[in-house]
Amino acid sequence: MGAAVVVSPRVTARADVLVPLGLEPTELLVDNKVIGTYIAADPTGATAVPGVWVAGNVTELWASVINAATAGLRAAGAINADLVAEDVRHAVALRRRSEPFSARSEREVCERVLGDRRHGLTTGHPASRSA
Ligand SMILES: Cc1cc2nc3c(=O)[nH]c(=O)nc-3n(C[C@H](O)[C@H](O)[C@H](O)COP(=O)(O)OP(=O)(O)OC[C@H]3O[C@@H](n4cnc5c(N)ncnc54)[C@H](O)[C@@H]3O)c2cc1C
Repeated sequence: MGAAVVVSPRVTARADVLVPLGLEPTELLVDNKVIGTYIAADPTGATAVPGVWVAGNVTELWASVINAATAGLRAAGAINADLVAEDVRHAVALRRRSEPFSARSEREVCERVLGDRRHGLTTGHPASRSA
């Protein structure tokens, strides 16, 4: 009669590059046994360290290629949104330092930044141009 040995693999995220940034791998437990480690992140890939996103197997051990690619795309969108929000914060802070808000300063900034695209009345698209 034959015998069999079953060995469970342990899946360890290669996260060495993230540790100096302050990210420690989290243990993945199944039935109270550690079966792997991963970097914890929210659904957009944002980690506990501001400005650091992850995607793919480093955070989702069971991801296949298509899941990893989708997560990469999602993280890229979140990173872009974060950069836009930071630009806006800087612009608002700069504006507040230079002159307090007023109807006149608002009009000047709109005209300088947006020109005739202001309020979307004209967008440059042929359909939006008045005769
Ligand atoms: C045996 C096996 C078979 C599989 N078969 C399939 C399949 O048929 N279909 C499918 O969809 N999925 C399959 N998968 C899963 C698939 O491989 C993964 O889902 C996918 O590769 C995850 O992509 P990723 O970019 O997250 O990670 P990876 O493809 O692992 O890419 C991470 C890259 O980062 C590099 N790296 C890590 N640390 C550093 C560092 N410090 N500096 C520089 N580079 C670094 C690594 O060398 C690697 O190239 C299989 C996995 C395995 C192990």
